[in-house]
Amino acid sequence: MTPPASALRADNGHGDAHLRPLPDLTFENTFVGALPADPILRNVPRQVQHASYTRVDPTAVRAPQLLAWADDVSEMLGVSRPTSASGIEAQVLGGNKVLAGMQPYAARYAGHQFGHWAGQLGDGRAITLAEVIAVDSNRYELQLKGAGRTPYSRTADGRAVLRSSVREFMCSEAMHYLGVPTTRALSLVATGETVVRDMFYDGNPKAEPGAIVCRVAPSFVRFGNFQIHAAYEELDELKRLADYIIKIHFPELGTPSPAVYARWFEEICKRTGALMAHWMRVGFVHGVMNTDNMSILGLTIDYGPYGWLEGYDPAWTPNTTDAQGRRYAYGNQPKIGLWNVVQLANALVPLVGDKAPLEAALAAYGDTFATNWRRTLGDKLGFSALEGEADDKLVNDMFELMQAVETDMTLFFRFLAHVPTEASAETSDDRSLVEPLCRAFYSEDAFVSLHVDRLAAWLRRYIERVRQDATPDFARRERMDRANPKYVLRNYLAQQAIDSLEKGDSSVLERVMSVLQHPYDDQPEHEELAERRPEWARHKPGCSALSCSS
Ligand code: AMP
Ligand code: MG
Repeated sequence: MTPPASALRADNGHGDAHLRPLPDLTFENTFVGALPADPILRNVPRQVQHASYTRVDPTAVRAPQLLAWADDVSEMLGVSRPTSASGIEAQVLGGNKVLAGMQPYAARYAGHQFGHWAGQLGDGRAITLAEVIAVDSNRYELQLKGAGRTPYSRTADGRAVLRSSVREFMCSEAMHYLGVPTTRALSLVATGETVVRDMFYDGNPKAEPGAIVCRVAPSFVRFGNFQIHAAYEELDELKRLADYIIKIHFPELGTPSPAVYARWFEEICKRTGALMAHWMRVGFVHGVMNTDNMSILGLTIDYGPYGWLEGYDPAWTPNTTDAQGRRYAYGNQPKIGLWNVVQLANALVPLVGDKAPLEAALAAYGDTFATNWRRTLGDKLGFSALEGEADDKLVNDMFELMQAVETDMTLFFRFLAHVPTEASAETSDDRSLVEPLCRAFYSEDAFVSLHVDRLAAWLRRYIERVRQDATPDFARRERMDRANPKYVLRNYLAQQAIDSLEKGDSSVLERVMSVLQHPYDDQPEHEELAERRPEWARHKPGCSALSCSS
């Protein structure tokens, strides 16, 4: 593959004297130092006991080549841009070289998968290299995903395919710019090796190019890291992990004690509730909300068969593995978030010594979600606040209408801001009234025959409500445009970036990534990236349906 121009420019034009090449950073390993290690170093699949992690190095790959580099993340870390696609950065971030000071490890965790206890899972293909103190003094872990087998790989190969690595790299950055808490990504490295995957588990395995993402987050610890210690009654290990996480990531809570553990749990509930409101706001469907994929910091973590809602449908999930039960469908996410924090509460009971404070703290999940979601809906509609039953009805009727004919959620809200609300608007005929919203509907015919009059009636109510607020129209639009992104990582856009990259062309990825850095801005030269999903993408693999195979 041709190395991307952006990954190779020697100077980023900012004259950043404080940036240093990756090997010159100082690496720390507080997780490894503070927590119980697996005493066995044999890198074979096995059940590990009484440990929070196993020390394991990445497995080298044939020909690591840098495919993409996130300047913002590297600048945050104080790292300068690589000058060669196959230089030291590709060696380190492809897993071929461990730098002095790094103590790589795979974390041990368990989880509930699709509602059932799954026992030990762990980092089966993710290896944390080390921690660095960023320019802003915050601590970040560098973690390679797809870096080879670990004791937690079970029967799998420890690798990741290019398509899934591209999707993680792009989406985590897109989420960051949308203002959604998330892990981030520094680099995407092609391994020069193939990985065999049966994309739809239908007996058609295929060799695909492999790639490794370097993920960046203050911590990758999940609910499942606590669950495993609780499940195996490793109470000392459970306490050490909780104390470490509180000390490093929640220092404001003070010295750990039963009361502090309960307050900490309450904070996790709040963050998780807030995260769900964000996902619902931007139309993101995680796809696999197992408890091993829930971050203890309330970040979006583990981008797998995720998707972006196109036609509004609460029952939609991109994950074919979940097509039957639809447990992790868009509209179920807030409910599943609650189910997941309850599982975490169960794991923390031994620390608090009593269920009651945890049960009380659980209320913070629902309260935070409800408050944030209400505020979000108000912002999405351009109201100063949602008030009373009439507003609730207006919102419910809107969602009902959006479901009645296939309506692109992102475009609907974005276009709603352009509906004129001055006095003359109500007297317009139905057709002119709905005109600004037309391009949000997937079928013109269905829209015209089924919808115009109903939508116009709803819009008249909406306009009347907007006028009650007496917010000037420009201010209403501004409020709406900050809550309603124009550009999201539509499923087919990610697939186009993948298809091009598989042919050695990184220009689509670079263009989409740069547009997604300003998702709330109108970018007239990139209007087509904000269009409805094209019809050819409706049933194309990767553009509408995905499996866990990655
Ligand atoms: P996920 O649902 O993708 O978050 O993964 C669930 C579990 O399977 C985690 O323990 C992963 O580390 C593990 N896993 C997923 N894919 C692989 C792979 N290719 N090799 C090894 N372990 C994997
Ligand atoms: Mg996972």
